[in-house]
Amino acid sequence: MTATLAINNRHQLSLDPLKMPERLLLGPGPSNADPAVLNAMTTRQVSHLDPEFLARMSEIQSLLRYVWQTENQLTIPISGTGSAAMEATLANSVEPGDRVLVGVNGYFGLRLVDMAGRYGAEVQTIQRPWGETFTLAEIRQGLEQHRPAILALVHAETSTGACQSLDGVGDLCREFDCLLLVDTVTSMGGVPLYIDDWGIDLAYSCSQKCLSCPPGISPFTMGPRAIEKLNRRSSQVANWYLDMSLVSKYWGNDRTYHHTAPISMTYALREGLRLIADEGLAARWKRHRDTAEYLWSGLTEIGLDCYVERQDRLPTLTTVRIPDGVDGKAVFLKLLNEDNIEIGNGLGDLTGRVWRIGLMGANSSRENVDRVLEALPRAIAAV
Ligand SMILES: *Cc1c(COP(=O)(O)O)cnc(C)c1O
Repeated sequence: MTATLAINNRHQLSLDPLKMPERLLLGPGPSNADPAVLNAMTTRQVSHLDPEFLARMSEIQSLLRYVWQTENQLTIPISGTGSAAMEATLANSVEPGDRVLVGVNGYFGLRLVDMAGRYGAEVQTIQRPWGETFTLAEIRQGLEQHRPAILALVHAETSTGACQSLDGVGDLCREFDCLLLVDTVTSMGGVPLYIDDWGIDLAYSCSQKCLSCPPGISPFTMGPRAIEKLNRRSSQVANWYLDMSLVSKYWGNDRTYHHTAPISMTYALREGLRLIADEGLAARWKRHRDTAEYLWSGLTEIGLDCYVERQDRLPTLTTVRIPDGVDGKAVFLKLLNEDNIEIGNGLGDLTGRVWRIGLMGANSSRENVDRVLEALPRAIAAV
């Protein structure tokens, strides 16, 4: 008999050990953590100030610099999900009254607008329809018109499946003397990305997309121009937890306590990044590209269309048009309940119009594409 706990006289709670279904996570994230990562997380903990832990921290910083292709000293994981690292970039770079120009062509651009405003920025936007990207000329025009202190763009818009080209944007930002802040959440570790060569001053990502870890720890990097702005601030960073002038003392040479590092998540990230280095960055980018192209041609074969034009398509996340008359949500539920496959529904402007298929990190394989291409038409026919 199942043991139960009476919460009160109306509610009983099962005391069975945790048991969850084995889902294949092919949505916008989280993706499945690599089994080696889950294994690393069961390692017995040391403390966050243990010399052995400090040594792993240094390794993680080096590995993050490799995956991001940067020499930025201040390259660390933030304790929290991607949104915490997103907030860290804005909290440390925005001073009240600063003008921040955000490229909005999807859901996460809107989140940047919301967050920047909360730190007192005077926010302006340039906009494109969801699923499209900005040309360099449009970005130049935005900088000319608004003269911002910071330009914020989303490299990989997970809500639309579009990849924003950053070619030439860093040079433009230097010409207009503004910082370049980029969301690399769904590109880091899956799509070619060069923080230093592209002149990116601030970037963030998360663990649960192309790094094949569970959610809860998130890469953050801040280059010399952004640190200079931080050091010139006349006001305090309005967020104690994410204040880099404090956090950097734990990750820098001082190693003084700021907040307790999430030990098991740090182990997970160390293993996830090690797996990327072991595969090799170029090979990993190519695997994501090849797997995505395999998906795109397979979708064509079963009569489904991608939402984004081919040249703007993100290899890590594909938006698929829901055919007329098909109940997208019912298909989503059928795949989940009958095939244990999770894909994503549309978000924001694309609600009800697309499904989102993520092929991120360890999940980016032909075998997984075959599974979804087999199950999806079956689910569509059945609803
Ligand atoms: C997932 C995601 C985030 C937010 O990350 P959370 O881990 O959900 O906080 C930010 N930006 C983009 C583009 C994302 O896909």
